[in-house]
Amino acid sequence: MPNTSYKMDLRRLILVLTICSALIPFANTFYAGYLVQRQQLIDNTLEGHYAYANKLARSTDDFLQSALQQLDYSAKLLGPHMGDENYLSQEATRLRLQTKSFNSVTVLDHTGYVLATSPDTLQIKGKTLKSANVLEALETKKPVISSPYLAITGNFIIFISQPVFAADGKFLGVVGGSIYLKQESMLDTLLGSHFYHDGSYVYVVDKSKQIIYHPDGKRVGERIQNNAAIEQLHEGESGHVPLVNSRGVEMLAGYAIVPSTGWGIVAQRPRAATLAPLNELMRSVLYKTLPIAIIMLLVIWWSARRIASPLRQLANGAHDMDKPETAQNIQSVKSWYFESHELKKAMIKGIGLLHRNITKLREDVNTDPLTGLGNRRHLDAAIAEFQAQSIPFAVVALDIDHFKRVNDGFGHDAGDEVLRLLALQMREVSRLDDVPCRVGGEEFLLLLPKAPLHSAAQVAERLRALVESTPLPAVGHITVSLGVSAWPDSDADIKTVFQQADAMLYTAKRGGRNRVAIYGHSVSPSTQSAALI
Ligand code: GH3
Ligand code: MG
Ligand code: MG
Repeated sequence: MPNTSYKMDLRRLILVLTICSALIPFANTFYAGYLVQRQQLIDNTLEGHYAYANKLARSTDDFLQSALQQLDYSAKLLGPHMGDENYLSQEATRLRLQTKSFNSVTVLDHTGYVLATSPDTLQIKGKTLKSANVLEALETKKPVISSPYLAITGNFIIFISQPVFAADGKFLGVVGGSIYLKQESMLDTLLGSHFYHDGSYVYVVDKSKQIIYHPDGKRVGERIQNNAAIEQLHEGESGHVPLVNSRGVEMLAGYAIVPSTGWGIVAQRPRAATLAPLNELMRSVLYKTLPIAIIMLLVIWWSARRIASPLRQLANGAHDMDKPETAQNIQSVKSWYFESHELKKAMIKGIGLLHRNITKLREDVNTDPLTGLGNRRHLDAAIAEFQAQSIPFAVVALDIDHFKRVNDGFGHDAGDEVLRLLALQMREVSRLDDVPCRVGGEEFLLLLPKAPLHSAAQVAERLRALVESTPLPAVGHITVSLGVSAWPDSDADIKTVFQQADAMLYTAKRGGRNRVAIYGHSVSPSTQSAALI
């Protein structure tokens, strides 16, 4: 039964093993390196942005403090001149233009009535401001930094103010500067100039999570929900955190609180932008290692072939051990290393032994052990071959005359010796191609390929005469009777031709023994039969 179960061959095994042992550590190192570098990049970015948010919080705080100081200085100047409209207007303009801290400057009396503005284009002079933030400044009579609100001018602003007192301490009003959140302002100079080109940016929220500064001006005023950094800021914490922003983008954010106002400054960068150089780096590492990897693979593949090839050929040889060409094939295997060399040597030895044994067995199976002539199996094979190749042949059937007497008179062993000698005599009279066989106890057949009937008759007669004339040790003279027929001389089939030879043999016996009977000829005494032939 053929072995159908699949077995991986050695070449594939070596390939798989070496590729795995090269690839797995490489992939592992590559991936581990990637993870470590990625974490480092993320950590560095978070730390960097935290430090940056902190720095901006401090500068924003400094800016607000200096704005308050500038206003305080103005408030002191204005105290004695609150009735002088011209002076108020000049001071407002000086404050706006010299400090560049504010988009506009306003001076109000203690009721909120606008005494002076800069620039004049505000067109609120003479009006009374009633917004909560202004009222807070008027009521507390203290320095105030407002939360963002929509001013009467239509601007979204932060109002920073200082109270103005008379020399006797009487509250006269406030001087305040506005920062316009939706237009270019000091905040842009402070925060926006640090806008990175690598995707990092800064935005600011007030205590109520409302955006007061954003590089995208349209987002100013928006209230931010579900943002880890903003929640932390709301709790009064500074720090850093990876987060998903309100637009669903993963960000690495650092955040810090501006102490004087409670504003939160967030500096952040998209995670993808941070990791992009790493991906690029890993790609280029991969591309750089690829040619070497391919060369390595080719070398491995070639080596695997070289190592497996002799064993493969030997294995094929082992599979076809019984085929005649196998010995030649194994001889030609290039066994360049020890194991294959030893295997090859052993196989050549084994095949030689096997073939010798098979040949011997084949011979034994077809040979009669007593006489060394072919047996009936040998005879059948010869007939089959003649028939297959349409080779005509003649048959001589032979039987020893009165052989019982030999056995009875001289013993069975002597009888056997007679049989052996008779076999030699049969060989003596036949050609190399002829087939002498022992088919029964003392019955023999001789096939004569390509021999016509009369030639076969001559051979039979020669044999008869040789047996008759040769004295055998101990036994003396014996005689044989022979029947001759030929195929396809007679129209009969092969089986019948043998029956004819047999019939002729018995005809010879009946005719007095020690004679040759030829199919289709009348039998005569032996002396005459020689003459007849
Ligand atoms: P005939 O002339 O009629 O042939 O007389 P025969 O005595 O030869 O008679 P037959 O051919 O029937 O004899 C067969 C005898 O051959 C019987 C047996 O004793 C002897 N014989 C058969 N096989 C062997 C053998 O292997 N060895 C010996 N020694 N004798 C055998
Ligand atoms: Mg007989
Ligand atoms: Mg006999």
